[in-house]
Amino acid sequence: MDTFTVTFWGVRGSRPTPQFSHFRYGGNTSCVEVNAGGQTIILDAGSGLADLSHSLACRARQAGERVDAVLLFSHLHHDHTQGLPFFYPAFNPRNRIHLFGPDLTGDGFPHDIQAVIMPPYFPLSMKAMAGVCGVQDFLPGHVLLLGGGLPAPLLRSKEARPVSGEEDMVRVEGLFSREHPNDVLYYRIGYRGRSLVYASDREPEAVRGIGAFSRFAHRADLLIHDAQFTEAHYFGLQPDMPCTKGWGHSYTKMACQAALAAGARRLALTHYDPHYDDATVDEIGRRAQSWYDGAQLAYEGLHIDLMQSAPAPRVPRPDYRYSELETQPAGA
Ligand SMILES: [Zn+2]
Repeated sequence: MDTFTVTFWGVRGSRPTPQFSHFRYGGNTSCVEVNAGGQTIILDAGSGLADLSHSLACRARQAGERVDAVLLFSHLHHDHTQGLPFFYPAFNPRNRIHLFGPDLTGDGFPHDIQAVIMPPYFPLSMKAMAGVCGVQDFLPGHVLLLGGGLPAPLLRSKEARPVSGEEDMVRVEGLFSREHPNDVLYYRIGYRGRSLVYASDREPEAVRGIGAFSRFAHRADLLIHDAQFTEAHYFGLQPDMPCTKGWGHSYTKMACQAALAAGARRLALTHYDPHYDDATVDEIGRRAQSWYDGAQLAYEGLHIDLMQSAPAPRVPRPDYRYSELETQPAGA
């Protein structure tokens, strides 16, 4: 099945913003649906996951199938997890949902994710999620394989021998980073010679090691990148707004520079500041276009078909290490 599509269900950072003035881009927090080779991958579980949840359940019912999905968490800040308690396919034992995320505390992702859904903060705990078949750390030095006849997602060491038929599978890699408070994991999803990189929360000037990200995102067909702030806001030059340097997010030009440094074919800006109305986001888009003509503004409902364009030329990707930035903390 030669499909590789991306649909945005939440493009807002920090908190949901349901105001009418934010309607065109949408007020839900981070959630992106990827369909590749018949596999459903969900990047982050912000408030946009609640609407995706309904859509997945409807599509499965109409097709007479169960919901099969893999949720990949970049980190555990509220704007990336607050939709999880409302992901009702996970409560249906007929479905098969797998969760993966980074170990950000040393206690492991399976331990840490439980705090998102437990009394007294929510009536139910993860034990009620009968459709969840597995919760795993996205381990350093591993690659996640999906589809191609595998009965379940397979996380294998990059050092291990390739599994049979791996070239037909969806391949997910991770890059651990300290470019966001409490750390973050970026994802690269590859299928049939196309690739996308998801980096929704990132402030590249906060640490050294920018080269690792450029290598990780090298020649991606689509880079989904943090563009939370305007430059004036970031540097504290906007009236009544604080300086946000060091908060772990990019301003528009930083996102464009990241795309140019990586040689990404297209750039989708996301994670807009919740204060920004549609006119402000429009202006972010105009500025982005002046720096990088492959830039576009993500909005709720934006659908991108990565199979519609020819694959990027096959150039060997430089090496990167999952934990490269781990050895270069901020201020080092
Ligand atoms: Zn965020």
